[in-house]
Amino acid sequence: MNSAATLPKFELFADPVGEKVFAERDEACGICLKSRGWLYVQPHYGPAASDGLAICPWCIHDGSAAARGITFNDAEIYSRFPSTNQMSAEDKALVEQRTPGFETWQGNHWLMCCGRACVYLGEADSTDLLGRWSSAVASLFEDEPDWSEAEKTDLVAHVRKGAGPCAYVFQCRICSQLKGFWDIH
Ligand SMILES: [Zn+2]
Ligand SMILES: [Zn+2]
Repeated sequence: MNSAATLPKFELFADPVGEKVFAERDEACGICLKSRGWLYVQPHYGPAASDGLAICPWCIHDGSAAARGITFNDAEIYSRFPSTNQMSAEDKALVEQRTPGFETWQGNHWLMCCGRACVYLGEADSTDLLGRWSSAVASLFEDEPDWSEAEKTDLVAHVRKGAGPCAYVFQCRICSQLKGFWDIH
């Protein structure tokens, strides 16, 4: 069994173990056919032959899964931030093909800042949004120009992981600004 410390590091996903996208499993990976102690446990997309396929973190990281036509994140990048340019082909490929996905109710979106794909930090609860990730809050409401401050404060106070209003937080690789979007489970 490999410890979590041996897992590959993902440039755009800060803490896949903490976010429960990898889990300790003895089952062999369907791509490298090795039992490495960890599997990816979130949805993937690809040819029918890949349905239900067990995929290990290493095969995401090194592109072996992508070589089978498997992707992990929404192909249509959600460009909510008018100041950002369209994602480069290189970043888009990294997001879709070599970065683990995370589950949201309406489908995940990968945020951009300074023209680059951001790093996904994780799903927030209200404690995070009032504390370590408070600088992401303003960006949560960029699509809600008509909301009052009271409405925004109320939403933030009710954000929970996996239930009710949820929020997903990213960090820019260039300017370090935190950004996010929210959704309802
Ligand atoms: Zn593998
Ligand atoms: Zn930035």
